[in-house]
Amino acid sequence: MSDYRDLRISVIGAGMGGLATALAFAKKGFRHVTVYETASNLGFVGAGIQLAPNLARILDRWGCWETISAEATNIKSSSIREGSTDRELAHVLMPDIAEKYGYPHSTGHRASLAGGLYEACQRESERITFRFSTSLVSVDSWGAPGHGDTTLFTVKPRHGEPEQVETDVLLAADGIKSVARTALLRALDISAEVEDTGQAAYRIMLTRSEMEHDPEMLALLDADCALRWIGEKRHIVAYPISNKTIYNLSTCQPDVNFAIAPGATYTTRGSKEQMLKVYGDFCPLVQRMLNLVPEGEVCEWKLRSHGPLASWTIGSVALVGDACHPTLPHLAQGATMAIEDGATLAECVARVPGGGADRAAIARALKVYELLRKDRTTMMVDLAAFSGRALHLGEGKAKEERDRQFAEAKEKGKPVPDKWASPEVQDMLYSYDCVKEAGDKFEELFAGLEKNQAAATATTNGVHA
Ligand SMILES: Cc1cc2nc3c(=O)[nH]c(=O)nc-3n(C[C@H](O)[C@H](O)[C@H](O)COP(=O)(O)OP(=O)(O)OC[C@H]3O[C@@H](n4cnc5c(N)ncnc54)[C@H](O)[C@@H]3O)c2cc1C
Repeated sequence: MSDYRDLRISVIGAGMGGLATALAFAKKGFRHVTVYETASNLGFVGAGIQLAPNLARILDRWGCWETISAEATNIKSSSIREGSTDRELAHVLMPDIAEKYGYPHSTGHRASLAGGLYEACQRESERITFRFSTSLVSVDSWGAPGHGDTTLFTVKPRHGEPEQVETDVLLAADGIKSVARTALLRALDISAEVEDTGQAAYRIMLTRSEMEHDPEMLALLDADCALRWIGEKRHIVAYPISNKTIYNLSTCQPDVNFAIAPGATYTTRGSKEQMLKVYGDFCPLVQRMLNLVPEGEVCEWKLRSHGPLASWTIGSVALVGDACHPTLPHLAQGATMAIEDGATLAECVARVPGGGADRAAIARALKVYELLRKDRTTMMVDLAAFSGRALHLGEGKAKEERDRQFAEAKEKGKPVPDKWASPEVQDMLYSYDCVKEAGDKFEELFAGLEKNQAAATATTNGVHA
């Protein structure tokens, strides 16, 4: 019997999903993990991120939650307000999240999360090797019947010749523009294109020194509250990060700039004048904050999505994170889902019967990962889209009904139309433990796949006999 820890694990991408996948495998004892990343370094995006309890639970197991949480804000409530008037539509108290789920709902800096994961990977440097400035070019063989016996892929170092690599498991966390997803769908003869959500986001970070002259702004920075200002087709979400030295704002509005110049671009330098115009009817407090953004530092992101994929795996190759379930950010769970994928994958591959000597068993273990993750992530992607539609309603009956529900939600326990702040959705998200679920369900799901395979083979043999 082989030792699963000797399997060669290749990870594409060092975003949240790739870093987490590499770390999860190293923590499970895998000794040969290599990460290939196009960028020359981690080049962190200057933006905040919500760190929900289901994410904190995984990070804590890996020993990196303490550092990340040290500078995070422990969010105790969320407030949804009408953008134009600042009138509060709903205020959801979250004082007991840590007691209920073991971890608080926090907000932090992306650099802190990615940096925490990367440092933890570096502490496993005997097991994890990083190859920056090196891109996946193609998947050449998938290690599956009809798709090549071995698992082979080609990478290209920025200043070098393409190299073909043989591996035992290839995990592609190469984001929404995933080369691996395109190759996988082509190999399965499925056509599925990236969808344009028609939405774009400005990401803004204001410093304490920029805000402290204004008591109303300072109160936002000092509160343990996440805010959402909503209006027709637009909203802004905001919260303090980095020990309350930074106020993070992330907007969502109709995509005008990218629609005019479509193509591979995902971020662009925006115009401050246009940003102010888009939110021109929002309340003075919002206006004052947007006005603080220095000219020339407005950054706009295109929000793209993808319909559910028919498959996330072929043979010993699997997709991870935004590569297989990109989402609108309205549930604030995209990075969390990518990190959960990595944790789930390591649990599945470490449990493969025979320690990985049997290629078909590895393929089945990756399918178990897909079974464990797909329905849940699809539901979350749908919920995020649903929330966006509810938040962006214009005048009319539907908006009246939504606002009635917001008013009702002020009474404890009622569902909130903004699903990110709704107690029943929070319960479903925050109580989830992907590692425990993988442990509980792996054997049964694996056996089910084995049985299906045996039945399919018997049928084929019968037909050919
Ligand atoms: C405005 C906004 C707000 C958000 N807020 C939150 C939030 O509060 N909470 C949350 O959990 N999520 C949030 N998200 C979602 C989250 O950012 C993403 O879902 C998450 O970062 C996806 O991680 P990933 O590793 O799958 O992909 P990515 O972060 O895109 O990483 C992919 C990596 O692969 C590399 N790569 C790409 N192609 C190749 C190649 N061919 N070869 C080698 N390397 C390659 C890229 O350089 C990159 O480093 C938000 C997203 C947006 C847009």
